[in-house]
Order: sequence, then C-alpha cells, then structure tokens
Amino acid sequence: MKDTFTHQGKRKQLVKTLEAKGIKDALVLKAISKIPRHLFMDSGFVDHAYVDKAFPIAADQTISQPYTVARQTELLEVKRGDTILEIGTGSGYQTAVLLEMGAKVYSIERQNELFKRTKLFLPKIGYRPKKFIFGDGYKGWPTEAPFNGIIVTAGAPFVPEPLLKQLAIGAKLVIPVGDEVQIMTVFTRKSPSDFDKETFGEFRFVPLLEDKN
Ligand code: SAH
Repeated sequence: MKDTFTHQGKRKQLVKTLEAKGIKDALVLKAISKIPRHLFMDSGFVDHAYVDKAFPIAADQTISQPYTVARQTELLEVKRGDTILEIGTGSGYQTAVLLEMGAKVYSIERQNELFKRTKLFLPKIGYRPKKFIFGDGYKGWPTEAPFNGIIVTAGAPFVPEPLLKQLAIGAKLVIPVGDEVQIMTVFTRKSPSDFDKETFGEFRFVPLLEDKN
C-alpha cells in the first residue's frame, strides 16, 4: 500500500487533464490530487490508475472515470460538514473524494462482495464514512434523511422517488439517467414539492440494479 513520488507526480498530471477538460472546483481537484487512486484498483492495474479512464473492479463493476467523479462531485456543490448520501459505493473512490472534502458520507452498495471489501479497505487508508450499508439504493436511506446532497454513481433507468423525498430543501440529487447512455441530471429541491431540473450531457455508467445481490 505505497504511495510514491511517482504516483503523486502522475496525480498532478491527472489533475491538469481534468482542469483542461473543464473541472473548475478547486476543492474537488485538491481531493483528487491527494487520493491514491491506484490503491482502489487491483495491483495489476496500477499503471492505469492515473489515466482518465474507468476501470474494472470486482463483481463486474467499474471504478468511475476520474472526469466523471470530478464532474458529479462538482455538480453536487459539497460544503464541509454536509451530510451526503452516495448510491453505489463500488471501490470507494468517490466516497474518499467526498470525505476528503469534509462531507459526512452515508454509502449504499448492492454487491455484497464489493460492500465487504470496501468497508474494510477505506478505513485502512484513513477514510471513514459515517455509515455503509449493503442494500438497495433505489430506496435511499429514509432513517438518515434528509441529506444535503445525494449522488448516484450507476446509470438509473428512471429517477427513484425516495431519493427526491430524502433531499433537504436546497439540496441536490446528481443522477445519471438513461439505459444505454445516461444524461447527467441534477435536481435541486426548492420547497417540499418543487424541484428544479438541469441536465449536463451524456455519460456511460454500469446500470443501477434493483434489490441486493
Ligand atoms: N463510485 C464507484 C462507482 C462504482 S460503479 C467507484 O467509483 O468505484 C457503480 C456501483 O453501483 C457498483 O458498485 C454497483 O454494484 C452499485 N450499484 C448498482 N445498483 C445499485 C443499487 N441499486 N444500490 C446500491 N448500489 C448499486
């Protein structure tokens, strides 16, 4: 579990790439410059950790492309101390970005293998979410709601109602919506019954699946 000068140098390059692609949020870029992404991937893939690409992890899932993580996090407008719900823990990389930015993170994963692995791994490298559960993200986490932001890191065929209901007033739900291709969609809760909706282009995610596995 080493983080060498070479890794750090490669991260600086990655941050430059993300800036060139339009990421502006300084806190997001700072988090990415700090987090050893290579440790979130199987050792054989270390050389790929700092290129702007998604990569396979366990259980047929992927660690999202750094640009995608950066863009979604930027759209979430995270402030220090915010309570954030993440759907799709996966490798835990996105979780680490949110924690690095000072958020209190609740994270849900439906693949038991990934859930168990990431739950052990994140604290080992110093990242401690408030809570993890093995569960179905379509339902959100009603007992911990409302959240100051909700981020979905898998492609949702539709927008789950419970997630909208679990937003605090003023909070955002950042969710890629669609089947083959997803449109990055941001809902902002204006009042108990009013939501603003904005879209931010096409992305490709693994699907948000129902139930647990
Ligand atoms: N943020 C992760 C992305 C992993 S890919 C990372 O960067 O590593 C999306 C993840 O969503 C996968 O781990 C997948 O198992 C999980 N997922 C899919 N459907 C889900 C659901 N209904 N509830 C919770 N997690 C889900």
